[in-house]
Amino acid sequence: MEYSVIVPLYNEEEVIEECYRRLSETMAGCGGTYELIFVNDGSRDRTMELARAIAAKDKCVKIISFSRNFGHQTAITAGMNLAAGAAVVVIDADLQDPPRVILDMIAKWKEGYEVVYGRRTKRKGETVFKKITAKLFYRTLNALTDVSIPVDTGDFRLLDRKAVEALKSLPERNRYVRGLVSWVGFRQTAVDYVRDERFAGETKYPLRKMLRFAADALTSFSYKPLKLSIFVGGLLSAASFVYLLVVLYLALFTEVTVAGWASLAAITLFFNGVVLIVLGIIGEYIGRIYDETKGRPLYIIGETAGFDSEKDKNNEKS
Ligand code: UDP
Ligand code: MG
Repeated sequence: MEYSVIVPLYNEEEVIEECYRRLSETMAGCGGTYELIFVNDGSRDRTMELARAIAAKDKCVKIISFSRNFGHQTAITAGMNLAAGAAVVVIDADLQDPPRVILDMIAKWKEGYEVVYGRRTKRKGETVFKKITAKLFYRTLNALTDVSIPVDTGDFRLLDRKAVEALKSLPERNRYVRGLVSWVGFRQTAVDYVRDERFAGETKYPLRKMLRFAADALTSFSYKPLKLSIFVGGLLSAASFVYLLVVLYLALFTEVTVAGWASLAAITLFFNGVVLIVLGIIGEYIGRIYDETKGRPLYIIGETAGFDSEKDKNNEKS
């Protein structure tokens, strides 16, 4: 098998057929054998039904179906675990990432690059809010992490088998796949493309999932938020000490009566707020440590289709 294309699907009944049509058209012209792996991430609409119908007609199509919604990054991971291709492409189902860009990626791969990521030069049909938060997010992340994660890239990328095997050897959960891809190294390069509008349907990344995604990215790749408390604590202690001196001076050497409870309440509330924020940050990390120690499988597969042997299903649960 030359190429594997992984497509995560969550409630994509409106796009799956067009997605299949465009992908198989593109892949038919790439001059190699390929498989299309649909990863159904616990869709609650007709996605699975449609996927089954497609797989029944086309031998190149394989399906991994989760027992529930485990999230986009986990769906990609499952696809990689079962992909057989010498090069593995990850692409969104909604056709925001144009399938023909895969051909450019393949060309780069043949030049010898092991990771080819798509870099969005423009994002069409996305809300101003999403564009601004995305821009801010990628830049903040880069400022805070030691691994340099290319800005304005998504999960649309091609990975050589070597990179896929390296990723498969990372057992961590709460995965931020694009960060992990940077982490594993290898020769990496970019192809630029314009991100289209969604073909149909609406985003499956509501604010709640976006925040979780951002938290996963930050905590997986940076300890800096933990060090924040040292910095803020130091700063506030210094400020408090200066204030203490001022108050002492006023009390001992002047006639001014030092102001009463209002300022005291304000200061106490402020400090308590800071303490709680820092505790929350520590809590985020502890929660993730707890997740790791439980050692649960990353996902549970409910059903697979199209893979050579059904043993995949039972053996490769994590
Ligand atoms: N997706 C998924 N599980 C989820 C959310 C999204 O598998 O819990 C898939 C979705 O079907 C799509 C891809 O991830 O193929 C990207 O999602 P979407 O296009 O909604 O995100 P956006 O482009 O708005 O960031
Ligand atoms: Mg999208």
